[in-house]
Amino acid sequence: MTSETTFNKTSNKTNTVIVTNVTAFDDNYIWFIHGLPEKSAQKQIIIVDPGDSEPVIESIIQNNYLPQAIFITHHHHDHTGGIKKLVEAYHIPVYGPENEQIPQITHPLAEDQTILFSSMGLSFNILDVPGHTTGHIAYLGHQTLFIGDTLFAGGCGRIFEGTAEQMHDSLSKLLNLDNNTMVYCAHEYTQDNLKFAQRVEPDNKQLRQRIEQTIQLRLNDQATVPSTLELEKNTNPFLRFDIDSVKTAAERFAQKPLNTPAEVFKTVRYWKDTLD
Ligand SMILES: [Zn+2]
Repeated sequence: MTSETTFNKTSNKTNTVIVTNVTAFDDNYIWFIHGLPEKSAQKQIIIVDPGDSEPVIESIIQNNYLPQAIFITHHHHDHTGGIKKLVEAYHIPVYGPENEQIPQITHPLAEDQTILFSSMGLSFNILDVPGHTTGHIAYLGHQTLFIGDTLFAGGCGRIFEGTAEQMHDSLSKLLNLDNNTMVYCAHEYTQDNLKFAQRVEPDNKQLRQRIEQTIQLRLNDQATVPSTLELEKNTNPFLRFDIDSVKTAAERFAQKPLNTPAEVFKTVRYWKDTLD
């Protein structure tokens, strides 16, 4: 059985986006972006990072969804493994990063491009967010952000291909986005991430509240994703490289002064890597 959860989204005057998910493997979320209700296109969906085709196809059949496109954030197999079968079944275009080798991509994308889905009433802008992989991109539109493995709820992706400086720059871009942006990452890693966050900032009250809420959600087998960008800015140490308490903790770990926010970020990332 596919479990599917609906997330009613923040709305502004012009539109409300509905996002649902199916789960795959141990902890992956595959997101479905639905057409705007006022366009009567709710059955039309865009599939984000289908690592596995099976739960996606099962949900499409159960719900009579009409797949319109696939969005890919980066090349890792747990985000791309389902593309081939979905394309064979539904003959839909595949959008993804122009700087990564993903053979099925029909629409290569890079920073500042805008993609339109007029029948669904949707449009998304592309952000380049390298670091986890060298070509990683994110999709931003309608106050929703599909960020793949760059930012997690309470954490950030490991730096597999890029540099800490690149990852710092990518995460810095996110700090400029609207606080109400809903952040859709691709994994349920929140509880572990927040344990580390508390090591960094044991006195952060909002973080403590978030940990309690997260424990409750997981006890009830509920997703902790999406979160708001505001919550991430206030509790995620990987977005808080400018904050004194995070800098002080990182300097204590490094046992030396850290002179730039990028150095603070790099140290906090390294600190977590030593514990994972
Ligand atoms: Zn990945």
